[in-house]
Formats: sequence, structure tokens, C-alpha cells
Amino acid sequence: MRNRFVAGNWKMNLSDSESKSLAEKIASHSYTENTQVVLCTPFLYLKEVLEATSGNTKVAVGAQNCHEKEAGAYTGEVSAAQLASAGIPYVILGHSERRTYYKEDNALLKSKTDEALAQGLHVIFCCGEVLEEREANKQAQVVETQLQEALGHLSTDQMSKVVIAYEPVWAIGTGKTASAAQAQDMHEMIRNWVANQFGAEHAEQQIILYGGSCKPGNAAELFAQKDVDGGLIGGASLKAEDFIQIIEA
Ligand code: PEP
Repeated sequence: MRNRFVAGNWKMNLSDSESKSLAEKIASHSYTENTQVVLCTPFLYLKEVLEATSGNTKVAVGAQNCHEKEAGAYTGEVSAAQLASAGIPYVILGHSERRTYYKEDNALLKSKTDEALAQGLHVIFCCGEVLEEREANKQAQVVETQLQEALGHLSTDQMSKVVIAYEPVWAIGTGKTASAAQAQDMHEMIRNWVANQFGAEHAEQQIILYGGSCKPGNAAELFAQKDVDGGLIGGASLKAEDFIQIIEA
């Protein structure tokens, strides 16, 4: 049976003291044995959130991005090697905000994924279609291309360190959630892609998250779908009570 997995993407939110207090509240709760929680914080807060959550083995910490090179003259950037050296086990790659605002394409995300895995990080890899692509019924094709171009070359061993997050872009931060049936359809398609690439046995173990306006009120229905193993949560991960309710779901 696959573990349940809930990651919070704090984006560029919260002050230093708010981050610490949120992390402490989340870490003070106990979670069931098969649950993994990951708090993806701004770079600046990673170490203190790591410390604040160190007493709870179910809560890990992740970055929201990393550079594709190991080191060098890249002002303002943070490498996967630096994250690994600071004891940060996870990194989100391919979030739609990075794809849109920073023009990150599949080729760059392939390089970032390779570098993150080479440094021993686990990758939470985001994919998802924009509204026009959904309206043109091209969501499966778009997501498959994103996965194929960025992850298709990985070995099964490398893929076992990748969590896939399906995030329809039209549902992120908009209050519009994919219906449970829409989410299940896409997750099944993604699991089939994983099976074709990495084998049926690996596909059974592959963790696939849903993200996009997931809240305490809709999490249970989404997570009850056969191929939905948890969520990547934006807005609702900033309130401890909401986030814990989602994890409980
Ligand atoms: C996200 O940005 O990954 C996300 C799912 O955001 P929200 O939950 O706010 O839609």
C-alpha cells in the first residue's frame, strides 16, 4: 500500500516568526504511521523550520526550487548541493508559477531534476495544463509531454525518489478545484504513463499528489480517489488548523 503524502507550498509568504510558529504547530500534532508531511518553505526559513520540526519524524522540509548547476557565479540562486548540505531532503520542481513567471521549460526542468537527484534530494515534480488546454481537451497530451520530456529518461531507481504532483493550473489559487472525477482521470493517466516507462510494479508504488485549491472541505473526496495519494497544498497550508485537517483527510 502506498504512503499518504501531503506537502505544503508556502510560496513567498509568512514572516520569520510566523514561519517558525506555523512549523511548530504542525510538528506538535501526531500523524499516522503511513503519512509523510513536507513543508516547502522559502529558502530563508528552511533551516529554522527543519529545527522546529525535528522532533516529529513524520514532518520533513523542502525547498520550492533549486538551480540546475552544482555551484558557481549564479547570483541569487541556490543549488541542490547546498540544500543537501543543509540537510534539506525535498525540493519542488516545475511548479506552474516557475514555468510561467520564470519561463522554466521541460528541458530546464530535466536538468534541474537530474541535478537534484544527483545530490540525493527527493523531487516533488509538478505538472498540469492551463485552462485553454483543458478547454481544448488537451490535458492528457500536455501532461504526458511534461512528464516525458523532464522525467522520461530517468532510471527506475531515480524515479523512486520522485513524487509527481498533478496541478491543473486553472485550479491553483483560484478557488476552482478539479472535480474528484477529473483528478482521478488524470492521476490514472499519469500512473499508466509511469507503468509504461518504469514498469507496473514501480507504478503501483508511485506517489501522485493532487494540487489546486485543495481545502479541508474537499480534501477527503479528492484523496478517496484510487490514484490520488495526497496533495500539494498552497493557500490552505498557511493555516495550521486547515493544513492539519487536510492531512487528517
Ligand atoms: C500550489 O501552488 O501548489 C497550490 C496547489 O496552490 P493552492 O492550493 O493555493 O491552489
